[in-house]
Order: sequence, then C-alpha cells, then structure tokens
Amino acid sequence: MKKSTIWILTAVMACAFVGLLAVQIMYMENMVKMRNEQFAEMVMRSLYGVSTMLEQNETKYYLDQDLKEAEATYGPQVGTMSFPSTQFDPYGEDTTAVAAGDIKIQRPANFNTLKNLNDSYQNRQEILRGQYLYQKSLLNEVILTILSQSSDRPIAERADSTTVSEYLKSEFENNGLRLPFEFAVVSRNSGIVYKTAQYKPESQNEVYTQVLFPNDPLNKQNYLSVTFPTKSDYIFNSIKFLIPSFAFTFILLFVFLYTIFLAFKQKKLSEIKNDFINNMTHEFKTPISSISIAAQMLNDDSVRKSPAMLKHVSTVINDETKRLRFQVEKVLQMSMFDRKNATMRLEDEDANAIIHSVINTFKLKVEKYGGQIVAQLDADDPIVNVDKMHFTNVVFNLLDNAIKYRREDVPLQLTVTTRNPDDDTLEVIIADNGIGIKREDLKKIFEKFYRVSTGNRHDVKGFGLGLAYVHKMITLFNGTIRADSEPGKGSKFIITLPLFK
Ligand code: ADP
Repeated sequence: MKKSTIWILTAVMACAFVGLLAVQIMYMENMVKMRNEQFAEMVMRSLYGVSTMLEQNETKYYLDQDLKEAEATYGPQVGTMSFPSTQFDPYGEDTTAVAAGDIKIQRPANFNTLKNLNDSYQNRQEILRGQYLYQKSLLNEVILTILSQSSDRPIAERADSTTVSEYLKSEFENNGLRLPFEFAVVSRNSGIVYKTAQYKPESQNEVYTQVLFPNDPLNKQNYLSVTFPTKSDYIFNSIKFLIPSFAFTFILLFVFLYTIFLAFKQKKLSEIKNDFINNMTHEFKTPISSISIAAQMLNDDSVRKSPAMLKHVSTVINDETKRLRFQVEKVLQMSMFDRKNATMRLEDEDANAIIHSVINTFKLKVEKYGGQIVAQLDADDPIVNVDKMHFTNVVFNLLDNAIKYRREDVPLQLTVTTRNPDDDTLEVIIADNGIGIKREDLKKIFEKFYRVSTGNRHDVKGFGLGLAYVHKMITLFNGTIRADSEPGKGSKFIITLPLFK
C-alpha cells in the first residue's frame, strides 16, 4: 500500500468520524431539549390542574358559607329543599325531567291516573323551579363574594400547604411524574409566603411557576413555584442509553488509529527490509566478485608461474573470504537474537582479558588508518557473568563502529576504559573522536535496522544490526548500555555490568 493511500484513508475516516460524532452530539442535544420540553409541559399541566382545583375548593368554601348563612336566615327546611332526592345538575340533564319523559312514553290508558301524574309532574316542576332559583341566587351570591372578597383572604388559608402538597402530588402522579419536588407559594408583593424546607430557587434547578387564582387583582396575585432537585438525573436517565453508542464510536476510533499506526509501521518495516536486502546484496557482491576475479587469474598460466602474483591473489582471496565471513557472521548474529531461546553460556569471565584480546586484533587496523587505540583497563574487579563469545562480539562491534564512523580529517583516537564505579559494578567505556551522532538519532541507534542516514557514507555499508545486537546481549547479561555523543566531536558508549560475587 502506498503512503498516500494510507493518508487518504486516514483523512476519509477522520471526516467520517467527526461527522458521526457531530450527528451523535446533535441527536443527544435534541433529545435533552425534547425531554426538557416534555417535562415542562407535564409540570405546567399539573400546576394548572392544581390551580383549578384550588379555585374549585374556594368556590366550595364560599358555597358552604352561604348555605350556612341561608340556613341561619330561613331555617333548616331551606337546606332540605335545597338538596332534594333528585338533585339539580346545572351542567347535565335534569334527571327528574328525564324520569317524567319516561312516564310520557309509557302513556297510561286511564285518564285519572294521567291527571294525577300530570299534577304531580307540575308540583315537581314548581319545586324544581324554586330550587333552581334558590341555587341560582346562592351561586350569584357566591360569585359576588368570590369576586369582591376572596382576594382579601390570606393566601395561606386559601391554598394551605398540606392541600397544595397533596394536590401537587396527585396531579404529578396523574401525569406520570414520580419525582421528589419542592414548592413555594409566592406573593407578588411580599415575596415567599411559605415554602418547603429544601426549596431553593437560586440553585440551577429550573423553577416552574403558575398563577394561583388568576382572577385576583394583579397587585394581589400569588404564584405557586415548584422545583425538582433530581430533575437533571431524571433527564440524564432518559438519555443514558446513548452512552454506549459514544463508547462504541471511541472504540472504533481507537481501533482505526491503531490500524493506521500498524499500517505505517508495516510500511516502514518493508522499507527497512528492502534497504537491508539491498545492503546485503552489495556487501556480498563485492567480495564474491573479487574472489571470482582472483579465481580467473589463477587460471592464467603467467600468474601461476609468478610466485609474487600467486601470493597476491591468495591474499586477495583470503581477505575477501574473511570479509564475507564477517558479513555472514553479522546476519547470523541477527538471526540468533531473533530466536527467543538463543543458547547462552553464561560464565564468570575476566572482562579485562577479553577486551584486551579484542584490542590486540584491532590495533593493526587502527594504526593502518593513522589512528591510535588506548586501553585503560583499570577495573580492579573485572569478573562478570557473561557469554564469552557474545561479549567478544559486543566489544568487537563497538570498536568496528568506531573505525567505520571515524572522521577523515583527524587521526582516529580510540580509548577503551574499564573501572569499578562501586563494589558491584563494572563499567566499560569505549570513546572515539569520530563523526558523532545527533541527539534525535541517539535515541534510536539501538533499534534493529536503524541507520543514521547522514552517517550512511557510501563507503560505509551496514545492516543497522550491530548496536541492536549489542543492546540485546548486554540486556541478557543483566547490564545496561547508553551512548553519549556530540556530532563532529565523537561518541562514547558506556556499558555497565553487575560484578560476579
Ligand atoms: P550499522 O553500523 O550496520 O549501520 P549499527 O547498529 O552498528 O549499524 O549502528 C547504527 C547507526 O549508529 C549507524 O548507522 C551509525 O550511523 C551510528 N553509529 C554507530 N556507532 C557509531 C559511532 N561510533 N560513531 C558515530 N556513529 C555511530
């Protein structure tokens, strides 16, 4: 997959994700708004119901009052008269009339019976008319009283807290609201008349207000205010089913980001692999072609006859074979550390002795480049628990790098130091005055296949495996390795190993 394809995929997915998230947020906001509106509607309907019930209550109160007064004035018979067995229903059908209608339909044959019935019907009509007029005057009086006096009655009496609380509760329940609520009755002029203990209108809870007795004069008006302390929980509960959808969206985002990360990593790995194969081909091709030319020369009689030429050809073959073997060894080292259970033979070894022998092999090579190698093997206690072959390879790789990445303009100066910073540790420091490593590369040089691009001088080929191998081995020896470097000045590799006690 091309890099641009990965980027296009990333962009498309990012847009889709942002869109999805925006739609979800919008949907949630709309849900919250809708729930709030529904809630407010239910509350207002209930409050209106309470207000109506209070008004009816008041009417009933004045009716009772008037009735009592009438009884006191006209005697108890009025009371009896006012409540006949068949009651007058001002809003519905006159039940008596319906009964009379029934009689008419049955129309008896006997005229006397009919006359009697007619009389009784007329009597009844008279009684009803009397009742009606009485009720009407009573109602008129009540209405007048309500209009003229009711607003003078203290509101706490007209709408006492227990009644209001009961009405509120029953109305809310009728409307399907089973939430704890707090309320207050507030006078337009003098503020709160009474309130429940937890009523706090100043908190962020929304206050729902309904006018009580809307026919009262404006300056005497009172309000019923209600708050719901747990309203936000109620709204949240009704939309919390949306939370999983957000969670799934984020899981999707995470998986997608991880996939993109893997795609880039794979891309990088395949590039590294290609580089590695190119490098390896080059590294192997040069000695193979040299050996092949040498072999062709051996076929030549003139060469075979000259001992000097023969010696030269055999030296070339020998050197090139060595070079080839060294390259093969490097690839082998890599395959070795890829194997989880690489065979390690940890033994107590004298680090000073191992380093000394490696330095000896390198001495000639360094001097060939006009350089100098200094050994300061000062550690009094050099015994460490390592695999001799791998530890030799480690020191070898580090010294080889110091030569590979030397500066051309100054003679190579290599210093190898061992010391005991404390009773338990051996420190090996390999310092050079080479081209150095930039800070951003310094962090990565121990990674497999990592090569510093500017350090990739055309005469210096490598696989980017040496330091990865060194790091792996030192870790297996329970030690640490770090590098200090200043570009253009030189590098220092510091190994610490636990001493064998
Ligand atoms: P290779 O030498 O095969 O490229 P290494 O793992 O040995 O791989 O080194 C990784 C990189 O670290 C090298 O490409 C080089 O740029 C840098 N490096 C290693 N040792 C030194 C050193 N002594 N001085 C400068 N650069 C170094």
